[in-house]
Amino acid sequence: MSVVSDIEKVLGNAEKLNPELNSFLSIERENALARAAEIDSKTGEQKLRGLAVAVKDNICTKGMRTSCGSRILHNYRAQYDATAISRLNAAGAIVVGKTNMDEFAMGSSNESSAFGPAKNPWDVTRVPGGSSGGSAVAVASGVVRVALGSETGGSVRQPASLCGIGGLKPTYGRISRYGLVAFASSLDSIGIFGKTSRDIAEVLGVIAGRDPLDSTSADVPVSDYIANITNSIEGKTIGVPRELLGDGMDADVREKVYAAIDNFVSLGAKRVDIELPYAKYGIAVYYIIATAEASSNLARYDGVRYGFRADESDELRKMYFKTREEGFGPEVKRRIMLGTYVLSSGYYDAYYSKAQKVRALVKRDYVAAFTKCDAILTPTSPSVAFKIGEKSDDPLAMYLNDIYTVSANLAGVPAISIPCGLSNDGLPVGVQLVGNFWSEDALLNFAHTYETAYPLNEKPPVYAD
Ligand code: GLN
Repeated sequence: MSVVSDIEKVLGNAEKLNPELNSFLSIERENALARAAEIDSKTGEQKLRGLAVAVKDNICTKGMRTSCGSRILHNYRAQYDATAISRLNAAGAIVVGKTNMDEFAMGSSNESSAFGPAKNPWDVTRVPGGSSGGSAVAVASGVVRVALGSETGGSVRQPASLCGIGGLKPTYGRISRYGLVAFASSLDSIGIFGKTSRDIAEVLGVIAGRDPLDSTSADVPVSDYIANITNSIEGKTIGVPRELLGDGMDADVREKVYAAIDNFVSLGAKRVDIELPYAKYGIAVYYIIATAEASSNLARYDGVRYGFRADESDELRKMYFKTREEGFGPEVKRRIMLGTYVLSSGYYDAYYSKAQKVRALVKRDYVAAFTKCDAILTPTSPSVAFKIGEKSDDPLAMYLNDIYTVSANLAGVPAISIPCGLSNDGLPVGVQLVGNFWSEDALLNFAHTYETAYPLNEKPPVYAD
């Protein structure tokens, strides 16, 4: 089959399902077909030849809309490609559309998008998770095999878990952040969704690695992630933290995650108990550091340089205020206010500086734990997909969704979520494996081995053929 006909099919499915799922903010029919024709006309090996990829709308794609799910960038077209995108393009992949997301990646449900929430294909009255909800839905609904998302505190793993697919957050510095619109720069990372871990491995191998355009990208050799999938985890150790398997998760989640531990053991892994004593401060620390950095990063949206500008601007300061007031939604404003507060002179030491110290302790916990095990297992999310509207008026309840995911971002270590069954209501449950720095290959092998032996065979009711 030609690449053009493959891409036609993907675009057709995206267009057919989008009215119901709202997972794409833009479907790039013309661009994608032009790229497909170009690839068809060339011969030669390309690692990802013709692979359709959906991309979160905070990753810059030249000439395409890049709205960050925000009114303030509703009409913004990126001037350049993110490094991850140029590497995908060079390998023959094709961006088929830009996906829905919580505004500026702030949220765990996709409900803070200025363009309406994406819906979970397992039950369209429920959220797909967030903030990379649209990318997760695009994969879970069978439109694409892989999608890019971004992570600051769980925004790939949590929606992967709620949608029944795989989602990887790599080590901080593994994938260039050049062209990823900044939320909290010391935590942000591009992440990858895949139907299978193999799909994730394929894409990671192409986009990982040092990039002179991002000084925080690391000069650490990129493994051959596919070759390192051996399908054996015999003798590998899985650490189970007492603190993170305690109370606070749904009964369904508990049952499936405990079963996943037994399944790993039946595949030859050894279980060890470990401790992460500072993990319980993860949420508090994250919501100080992430908001502090966001308040600074989002200062650039002032109606002068990018996107939306409020009318009636007889005076410059008034124009700034009005633009930001009308351009940002309530969650983004809440974060900017919180972040400005924790950085203000009277409170800096009590909040921001203290949070940095606790962050160092969270990281130290992981370093100690990885002397005892190869990966740490926890639930990805305390609950299955919740109803649209259920938590949208309660920011704290929403923030608590991130309880198992944020500490990997604080420490900078990689983590993956894979499906481990369905709840009694038929909704996916995810299990998370956190690895040591640069151990993406080990995580992908754990994940692949698991999903080969215990695949999630069910498909969601809303699914592309
Ligand atoms: N849900 C978290 C937040 O709202 C994580 C977001 C993310 O990882 N981008 O900040």
